[in-house]
Amino acid sequence: MKSVDAHLAEILATVRPLAPLELELEQALGATLAEEVSSPVPLPPFDNSAMDGYAVRSADITDLPVRLPVIDDVAAGSHELRAVGPGHAVRIMTGAPVPAGADAVVPVEWTDGGTVSVTIDRPVQEGNAIRRAGEDVQAGEVVLKTGTVIGAAQLGIIAGVGRRRVLARPRPRVVVISTGAELVEPGGQLAPGQIWDSNSFTLTAAVREAGAEGFRAGSVGDDPAVLLDRLDTHLVRADAIITSGGVSMGAYEPVKEALSPLGTVRFEKVAMQPGMPQGFGVLGEDEVPIFALPGNPVSSYVSFMLFVRPALAKMRGLPGGPPEAVTAYVTGPLRSPAGRRSYLRGVLASDGTVSPVHGQGSHQLAALASANALIVVPEDVTEVPGGTEVEVIRL
Ligand code: AMP
Ligand code: MG
Repeated sequence: MKSVDAHLAEILATVRPLAPLELELEQALGATLAEEVSSPVPLPPFDNSAMDGYAVRSADITDLPVRLPVIDDVAAGSHELRAVGPGHAVRIMTGAPVPAGADAVVPVEWTDGGTVSVTIDRPVQEGNAIRRAGEDVQAGEVVLKTGTVIGAAQLGIIAGVGRRRVLARPRPRVVVISTGAELVEPGGQLAPGQIWDSNSFTLTAAVREAGAEGFRAGSVGDDPAVLLDRLDTHLVRADAIITSGGVSMGAYEPVKEALSPLGTVRFEKVAMQPGMPQGFGVLGEDEVPIFALPGNPVSSYVSFMLFVRPALAKMRGLPGGPPEAVTAYVTGPLRSPAGRRSYLRGVLASDGTVSPVHGQGSHQLAALASANALIVVPEDVTEVPGGTEVEVIRL
């Protein structure tokens, strides 16, 4: 049997970072920057008021209370400004440019709020409530480095330096296809022998949680010809494909039957539990990676976390190593088959313990849904007493 590490290494050696594209701001969320972003101008571009209030000369605010004539009104966006002479005040709003002559802004809360004249009853320091040009970013300064994932705040600064497009690796587009003649769309009625298709929803959601775009292409039954047809349809728009089911040792294994003859996808046994049968390879001229995951719901999800998620990270231009593990003390005994690495479902608590959930079968989706971690038991360990320190992967 192939080791988990060897299988992941082969996958990571095959998948490549997606080529960078000029992405519109609206498309850039979750993409990975492939250029350095810098600001062409200082930010803020000009000295402006941090508060609603009055622009004054601070030296005028003595012998309190002081009464000053209000000679102008400056809103954000104004540009024809009257200078503030000695003994004058200008009403000013947050974000408005500070007029020449003024060296401080008195917040409206320190005044009577007058519009013709204003009474000020507190002293003000020079520079008060003024945001200086370049205080956030200097002209030419780099604001985001290559390799940064664009989240909401990063998108904000890209727009904030005036860019409409950015060179970035897009989120990989991943098509998810489930196989199985027994599958029915959730919401429909079950006939005898049928179950609702859960894997395509789990895997599409897992793709999105991994920062990629998931498209659920539905179920294709157990006919290899239908699967090939569906793959043909989706290959043009996919950066990767995930299938579920149809890769084991039985009959009616449509993924294995359809893809084995192509010679570009290998079906192997990986020394793990759950998730022993795995298929991986590439399809078509563009060598689109395909992950043929086992059908049992826990197996397909665990396989996604161990193999597909790191591959998607690499495709995004991020480090694509194995999932990070932490250590915890297991609250009860564990069993694991010899020669296979187990990923048992558990609940990791804040006190540094992890409790195995009830129901460790690879079909037990409810138990998986109650877990927040995978407890890793190495290949050469078959029994773990309660209280032992174990490796844990957070889900
Ligand atoms: P297979 O790998 O196709 O032999 O399927 C293994 C087990 O997983 C069978 O019990 C299937 O009914 C179940 N299974 C396969 N695909 C799905 C799916 N999309 N949703 C839920 N269960 C599935
Ligand atoms: Mg099947």
